[in-house]
Amino acid sequence: MPLQLTNEQLKQIAARFGSPVYVYHAERIKEQYENLLHAFAGTDTRFFYAAKALTNISVLKYILSIGCNIDCSSVNEARLAIHAGFTPSQILYTSNNIAFSEIAEAKELGISINIDSLSNLRKSGEAYGGTYPVGVRLRPNIMAGGNLKISTGHSNSKFGVALEDLESILQVQKETGLHIRTLHIHTGSEIKDVEVFAKGIEVLLDLVPHFPSLEVIDLGGGMKVPYHPGETGTDITDLGRKVKEEFEKYEHKTGRHLQVWFEPGKYIVAEAGYFITTVNVIKQSGDKTFAGVNSGLNHLIRPMFYGAYHEIENISNPNGTVHTYQVVGNICETDNFAEDRPLPEVRENDLLVFRNAGAYCFEMSSHYNSRFKPPEVLVKEGQPILIRKGDQLGDLLHNQTQA
Ligand SMILES: *Cc1c(COP(=O)(O)O)cnc(C)c1O
Repeated sequence: MPLQLTNEQLKQIAARFGSPVYVYHAERIKEQYENLLHAFAGTDTRFFYAAKALTNISVLKYILSIGCNIDCSSVNEARLAIHAGFTPSQILYTSNNIAFSEIAEAKELGISINIDSLSNLRKSGEAYGGTYPVGVRLRPNIMAGGNLKISTGHSNSKFGVALEDLESILQVQKETGLHIRTLHIHTGSEIKDVEVFAKGIEVLLDLVPHFPSLEVIDLGGGMKVPYHPGETGTDITDLGRKVKEEFEKYEHKTGRHLQVWFEPGKYIVAEAGYFITTVNVIKQSGDKTFAGVNSGLNHLIRPMFYGAYHEIENISNPNGTVHTYQVVGNICETDNFAEDRPLPEVRENDLLVFRNAGAYCFEMSSHYNSRFKPPEVLVKEGQPILIRKGDQLGDLLHNQTQA
């Protein structure tokens, strides 16, 4: 059984720090990272945690302490990574649709960069030639991922340089002497099927002969974790086996050794997170029973943004008679966390816990409706540590100047 926090621990945290509150379980993060190391043993693979899933600086420091590298989606994330103590060689920046000036800033930081447009590739070539190795993010024309907002590799996607533009990439390489070290793809999030990754490997390995300075194949992130009870995630053991097989075969055939990079976000932190809310109001409306909690899309937008499912537990009344509820927030929009969800009888003041709240949850929170963002707590060696205070009114006024 994977590591979990107990209902008792969660209740104590809510009693001490209040609710709503985000809770992260450090050892569970480590367990997930070690699962990856184990599954990819015997391969030359490096893992870069996709920081955009959860960027709290204490979490980043913890991720550094367990030996994982970091993938950033903005130059600010790269600066946070440096602030957390990562060295430039541990930092990767996979950009999309950024100004060349941001690539120049990343280069100043000395970090690895994956570039996702022809125009920035050419500008990089003209500026750096062979002096600074870069990666090219390709759009592999693979349709994959949990829903359209998180599918990034299909043929109408905004991400990456189209495979059809290979000739233009080669032209940049030839004309500017650009040092292309990495070919990168990230086809989407919540990819269960190992065959999707296998297809990506096939597409990229086919291109290797065009790139004499290539050293790295970067397969992005997107490993799926179970959200529904009974659901299974990506079989990473199978994925590790596939990578070992394909890259050994390739090396044997061509004599070229390639390192493999992955950028898992969700896989590393999703299941380590819990979001604890309190029920404000039980309300009957039409034929529905509403459980209105002291939170909303301002704190956890995944269900409203892309229909994500989060398991919800009533830790105050786990053995109550099961009824069906609309679990909703307090924001002035229809912010349903869950529809027609069977839960043990929910009463006012009960604690409802959202599971899998580590990835893209606090990180996507906002001050909408002028409500405060929740505090964050990291549980490490059994001890809860406050790693972000809840907001106060001054936080809403911060940066506002007098008209
Ligand atoms: C978001 C993102 C990831 C992480 O995706 P997960 O589904 O969280 O694993 C990895 N690489 C890139 C380029 C991304 O944009």
